Amino acid sequence: MPAGGRRRARRRAGRLRSGSRRAHGGPMTWRTTSSLHPVTMRQQNLATVLKVILAHGPIPRAEITEIAGTSSGTTTKLTAALIDAGVVRELTASGPAAGAGRPRVPLDLDTTSRAVLTLHIGVHYSLVAAVDLRAEQILQRQVAHSSAEAESVIRGAAEALAELRDQLSGRHVVGVGITSGGSVDHTAGRLMHHAELGWTEVPVRDLVAEQLGLEVVYDNEARGEALAELTFGVGSSADNVIALFVGSVVEAALVVNRQIHRGARGIAGTVAHLPVGAAQGPRCECGRTNCLRMVASNTGLLALARERGLATESTTYEELVNRGADAAVSDLLALRGRWVGEAVGTLTDLLDPDAVTLSGNATHADGFLDAVRDGMRAADPSRPDGIVQLATFGERSTAAAAAALLLDRYFTDPVAFEPGLDTHQAG
Ligand SMILES: [Zn+2]
Repeated sequence: MPAGGRRRARRRAGRLRSGSRRAHGGPMTWRTTSSLHPVTMRQQNLATVLKVILAHGPIPRAEITEIAGTSSGTTTKLTAALIDAGVVRELTASGPAAGAGRPRVPLDLDTTSRAVLTLHIGVHYSLVAAVDLRAEQILQRQVAHSSAEAESVIRGAAEALAELRDQLSGRHVVGVGITSGGSVDHTAGRLMHHAELGWTEVPVRDLVAEQLGLEVVYDNEARGEALAELTFGVGSSADNVIALFVGSVVEAALVVNRQIHRGARGIAGTVAHLPVGAAQGPRCECGRTNCLRMVASNTGLLALARERGLATESTTYEELVNRGADAAVSDLLALRGRWVGEAVGTLTDLLDPDAVTLSGNATHADGFLDAVRDGMRAADPSRPDGIVQLATFGERSTAAAAAALLLDRYFTDPVAFEPGLDTHQAG
């Protein structure tokens, strides 16, 4: 590792240590009883060592010691515990270092032993998946919503998750991460309101937890995307991030100094009614025609296409975007990107982030990123459009976002999820 990288890594490890219990804000209210234990120095060190392996693996013990700031004896004991538990594994040594000494055996997360189940509740269907400890996908399937009724949709999705679990032979499932659009009370695990689904006050977390008997974390989609970026993506070099989700809903999550900024009422990042320049879309429920949700969401785009004679009442979003070769459709898609870019410009002026990441199925259209950058520069050519990028996990980001909600807690307090780590006294 070059010296600069090592300095950055040390700074990061310092942050990990000082914030190890509340790395991303929010009270510690999840329901694992073992999470109520007082946190010992050993548990904090376990989390630090695990986060160093997450960020830098494969990595030999000597470098873990340097970055984590632990003694080499402590590193040896803690990595032995992580290996015995099956969370970390030794890779093949790359041979003795030049000169002499023992071979440097790199350690990495064991991505074959654990799984996280994920659920994204969409507007027309839900996506269920299983991912590994690096949020990489193992299995995925769509579940069509059989009704508009919240409880039956969620019970159906939980059944699909149970089926996925049965297919994960040999993997220990550490928990479930759930995302949806709309406003979510993440401490209560409840969906407060989702305009597009027409749902209010749904106890999403408890419905799934009852059915599966697993630890469940539930939050808004954009916040999951932001945590996935912090843990596995742009967070390696960015501390301030705007994660914008553009799909059936349009929502943002704001990350300030590596913490999700939730706001006084927990609704920070609600950008649905952000006015976008002179845009003329269908009339929003708020009465205006230039709300971001009406010109940039999939449903808004479809309505706009109908107004322009490019779609009929029965045309689906997928059918519309598949006609991207049609100049009028392609113009409309580029316009959508520029409107999103205008909103990104406003948000960037407010937060001055290191990075802006874009997720949701709008981002899959050809030329979307360029159109967003164009729109961002429209009001102010000096805006740093290079900070805008597509989500690190690309088209796999929906499952990664839901998994990140659970994995953030897992890496912050591994003992709560891996009881074997607490009793291990080897070394
Ligand atoms: Zn509106």
